[in-house]
Amino acid sequence: MEIRETILKYALINAIQHDGKANPKAVIGKILGENPELRPKAREIIPIVSEVVQEVNFISIEEQEAKLREIYPEFFEKKEEKKEEKKGLPSLPKAEKGKVVTRFAPNPDGAFHLGNARAAILSHEYARLYDGKFILRFDDTDPKVKRPEPIFYEWIIEDLKWLGFQIDEIHHASDRLEIYYSYAEKLLKMGKAYVCTCDPEHFRKLRDEGKPCPHRELPPEVQLKEWKKMLDGTYKEGEAVVRIKTDLSHPNPAVRDWPALRIIDNPEHPRTGNKYRVWPLYNFASAIDDHELGVTHIFRGQE
Ligand SMILES: [Zn+2]
Repeated sequence: MEIRETILKYALINAIQHDGKANPKAVIGKILGENPELRPKAREIIPIVSEVVQEVNFISIEEQEAKLREIYPEFFEKKEEKKEEKKGLPSLPKAEKGKVVTRFAPNPDGAFHLGNARAAILSHEYARLYDGKFILRFDDTDPKVKRPEPIFYEWIIEDLKWLGFQIDEIHHASDRLEIYYSYAEKLLKMGKAYVCTCDPEHFRKLRDEGKPCPHRELPPEVQLKEWKKMLDGTYKEGEAVVRIKTDLSHPNPAVRDWPALRIIDNPEHPRTGNKYRVWPLYNFASAIDDHELGVTHIFRGQE
């Protein structure tokens, strides 16, 4: 089927289901949701959709039905069983109706883009398919390198709505720093994390050789004192990080004792200003939030 005809098919179906008036946003959402191969072409498709929807909305509902019968008679034959067909998405492992929670976690340091569109669309489609919940979580905890900008928070929400998404919850990681701190403290107390004040290059050398740094085995009391010094400004940016203990013989050295939280002096975060100086790294914040917010299924982008 030619792209234009595919679009016409979706526009006609949408129109027939909505008293003869197709909604371009819903049509685009549906096309990209059900035709993954078209997602990379979204930019070309969007203007064609507006055009086709205009044409479709101009004709009567009887004409719309006649046209759809001509190009896609299956719609009328399979109308009943179609509803049960789960929109062509493969079923999710361990998914129960009403209990699926998915999330999309963009960094508001830029606009919604095609690189993360796939993860967003799948997350949303599956949440709807299973009558579950779709969470938008802004991953805005890197005020230095991936600095969030106020305008992008708004744009991302607008773009998702424009794609026809229903956003059930919105969270900002930058509102949740106290939660990350309490997890960090728990891990330090349990001896599963440590405050490392090694010079980064020195640490990397030890790590690559699979050797522990001198801070790794210090007792929890010491770790907690060191942690306080990160929070109260005794340690400056670059002088200390909290690391999660892992297997030091892990084949991938980057995974060994990975950093969970680091210091950013004067972050001037657009939402919290300079209130916080210790910031979680993405993997840490994301793992905690997925757990705390009850996320059941995660879809990754192709970045
Ligand atoms: Zn160290």
